[in-house]
Amino acid sequence: MRPDKLSNYRGRFAPSPSGLLHFGSLIAALASYLDAKHNNGQWLVRIEDIDPPREQAGAGIEILNTLESYGLHWDEDVLYQSQQSALYHEVLAQLAEQKLSYYCRCTRAQIKAIGGIYQGHCRALSQPAHASAIRVINTVGISQYNDVIQNQVTCNAELAQEDFIVLRKDGLFAYQLAVVVDDIYQNITHVIRGCDLLEPTARQLSFYQILQHKAPQFGHFPIAATSQGFKLSKQNNAPAIDKNNPIPSLFSALVFLGQQPPNELQTASVDELLTWAIGHWSITGVPKSQEIIL
Ligand code: GLU
Ligand code: ZN
Repeated sequence: MRPDKLSNYRGRFAPSPSGLLHFGSLIAALASYLDAKHNNGQWLVRIEDIDPPREQAGAGIEILNTLESYGLHWDEDVLYQSQQSALYHEVLAQLAEQKLSYYCRCTRAQIKAIGGIYQGHCRALSQPAHASAIRVINTVGISQYNDVIQNQVTCNAELAQEDFIVLRKDGLFAYQLAVVVDDIYQNITHVIRGCDLLEPTARQLSFYQILQHKAPQFGHFPIAATSQGFKLSKQNNAPAIDKNNPIPSLFSALVFLGQQPPNELQTASVDELLTWAIGHWSITGVPKSQEIIL
């Protein structure tokens, strides 16, 4: 590794500001950071603030402050998805023009009643309707892909073929739209994130193909779960990591990621710990299970 020699690797960490960083999101930040830095790449941070009802005031800035105190310094300016509406609208307009999308009035209950997988009911009814969602015609339906951590991933084929939502009925942009449009916009080459997103990745790979754009490489590390089997998440009120005491959480996150840090690092500085971790990062050391109980 030569720090003076930049590669074209571009990775990112893309938290939603729905709460503070907890151990699960620290793992996502650290794994994406280490993989980028080990490969002499750039590491970007994007705040995915497109769902105001689920956001917590001040969480975005707190997440950034915590990343800084954990020594996870990002390259380039932070991108806020709330600033990207014009681009999302452009992509929606382009899909409509190419007849690759349609309005859907179906309710969650209606879809549940037919087995939970949307069958394209509204494809034929193309007039815009008030309070309609917009779906993409999924001509691709990728359900298998190669993952840099999990190797071959196989998802539910029926779900992978579903016409997915790009604009929600409540008028908010869907995650699938925003994440793919921004990963393209930021020229992201590698996406390292948790196994809770294995299934969405299949849809995103289809979407890249529909947009006729090369997809990044994906790698999914196991998610951290509590002994009750719940994923650590902001929705489950996972405790925030201590902004003022980074070493214990960073050390535990390295262990979680299968990196075998030497014990001396427990008393090292943040810089020393991260320098060791960048140099020794081994993507093949990351466990291939989808979930690890803490
Ligand atoms: N914003 C998403 C989350 O917090 C992550 C998106 C992604 O990594 O693609 O779960
Ligand atoms: Zn419908």
